[in-house]
Amino acid sequence: MRRDFFPGFIKLHILHHASKEAVYGLWLIEELAGHGYKLSPGTLYPMLHKLEQECLLKSYSENHQGKIRKYYKITPKGHRSLEEAKVKLQILFREIME
Ligand SMILES: [Zn+2]
Repeated sequence: MRRDFFPGFIKLHILHHASKEAVYGLWLIEELAGHGYKLSPGTLYPMLHKLEQECLLKSYSENHQGKIRKYYKITPKGHRSLEEAKVKLQILFREIME
């Protein structure tokens, strides 16, 4: 499958999970691998940073078993972008799956 389709799918996937609960890098790598996306930390972390720069995600750090872990949660702007994308996805899905 063309890899240039992936970044958009992956970003929407990250926003979807971050809209349910706070997510972190390692969990996302395993979650995305479960859907067939093989992402290295070197690919995922810049994507998370960019989503935060675009104010779609907000991060916070927390001590987890003696280690500082960076969590990401969706922002109100992120929610709006996700809802807009879901409408477009539904139209696309309906058309291409006909
Ligand atoms: Zn998922």
